[in-house]
Amino acid sequence: MVQRLLEPGEIETLDHTAIPRLLLPEARSLFTARATRLRQLANNQIKGIPVGETLSGYLNMMAALVDAQAAVIRTLPPETFALPDAAGIQMAIDHHMPPLPVSGQRPPTWRRVFDAILDQLDSLAASQPQLAVVLAELRSLDTAQLEGCADAVLAELTEGVHPLHAPFVAAALQVMWTMRASQLEAPRVQPLVTNTLCPVCGSHPVASVIRIGGQSQGYRYLQCACCSSEWHMVRVKCSCCESTSNIAYQSIEPEGGLPAPAEPVNKANDPSKVARAETCDDCHTYRKIFNQEHDFYVDPLADDLASLALDLLVGEAGYARASGNPLLWFNAE
Ligand SMILES: [Zn+2]
Ligand SMILES: [Zn+2]
Repeated sequence: MVQRLLEPGEIETLDHTAIPRLLLPEARSLFTARATRLRQLANNQIKGIPVGETLSGYLNMMAALVDAQAAVIRTLPPETFALPDAAGIQMAIDHHMPPLPVSGQRPPTWRRVFDAILDQLDSLAASQPQLAVVLAELRSLDTAQLEGCADAVLAELTEGVHPLHAPFVAAALQVMWTMRASQLEAPRVQPLVTNTLCPVCGSHPVASVIRIGGQSQGYRYLQCACCSSEWHMVRVKCSCCESTSNIAYQSIEPEGGLPAPAEPVNKANDPSKVARAETCDDCHTYRKIFNQEHDFYVDPLADDLASLALDLLVGEAGYARASGNPLLWFNAE
């Protein structure tokens, strides 16, 4: 028998103290959990992320869109989400390129996902005239226009897509990429040259999250805005320029004020530590960081959307958002 050398990924699986570098999404449960989280946020039930009435309606609308994402995953046939051929995937991995890149060609079946998402929203639109108008506009786009919107969304350009249309296009693309990412084998995917982009699809992260449980205990991950994969990045490091020298954290004061100084520090479930902005004085950007140690059910995308107050706070302090949230286009009125 020929003895085979272990690949780097296999060596890591043998070492039980190794940090899992890449957590691929559980597509089926992810969107269901996110919709639940968005509704709790909309109802102002999450300590640490207070939500006012203005934002509440939007979050409920996005919860319906995420429900639609979950539903199309259950109803569309698996071939809709087929992976590229194995040789193509291996070639990308060998060259430290993302195996499911957001740039270049995309499977035309994403438009089937898009149509199915709109269909799922029809019942809600019956009681919400504004949503009905948006759905009618989206259905009137021809293939070329829709592909143009997808290009703009994936390149995070605000030109080329109407801000009210963008979340619906983004939702379809997200389902497509998340379903495909979930079929990859995590140890085989290699890190990119830059750790600030998703190793699976090359998109920006939406936010970061400190995970608990198993081998990920206490480690920080960046969650991809497009394919929902999470990749490891050490804590106290800028997720935009990778500098470690001028990092600081800001949070919104929870309702009822900060805990009294006499209370023990490092206590779990501290609302003031659920959502923070990680700012960098080298590149003057920030991304938010959500901490599962303080709220088990944090969802980076949903919590980012609901914590607009934190964006205002750090924006006033002179920091720019490092990248957007797929369910909110910032030039939206
Ligand atoms: Zn990705
Ligand atoms: Zn930076």
